[in-house]
Amino acid sequence: MKAEKNKVVTFHYHLTDETGTKVDSSHDRAEPLTILFGHGQIIPGLEQAMEGHEAGDKFDVSVPPEHGYGERREDFTQRVPKKYFRDADHLKSGDATVLSVQGGGYRQVVVLKVGSSVIDVDLNHPMAGKTLKFDVEVTDVRDATPEEVEHGHVHGEGGHHH
Ligand SMILES: [Zn+2]
Repeated sequence: MKAEKNKVVTFHYHLTDETGTKVDSSHDRAEPLTILFGHGQIIPGLEQAMEGHEAGDKFDVSVPPEHGYGERREDFTQRVPKKYFRDADHLKSGDATVLSVQGGGYRQVVVLKVGSSVIDVDLNHPMAGKTLKFDVEVTDVRDATPEEVEHGHVHGEGGHHH
């Protein structure tokens, strides 16, 4: 079975940036990553490269910023009260963290400067502007259930229930 829209795809990956520095790896966690294919759960460049692959396939792909997390925007910064951070007391310049956003959910930001009651952050995604090299091994491809397609996410093992 091939990875395509509305399949549930499970895969391991190693991610490095253009300098070869390790950014992330599913091997650091107990389980590989499971996604509902074709629903924007992974960056477009990776999803495109994965399409048509089957369980057992391995592939490499280099994803430029425009097919990844976008280009970095200069001056895309904001001064935010500490209460909007989950971990304000532990943050220092250069740390990546998450910020609560209006309407719910979180956004990844990088800390620029910590004040007594506010924190200046860079709102660019930490991976923005980077060419990302993925080393991927597809471990499973299955049909999504109608409910998973309707919800736009995976249920059960490797997914979540709601
Ligand atoms: Zn659901």
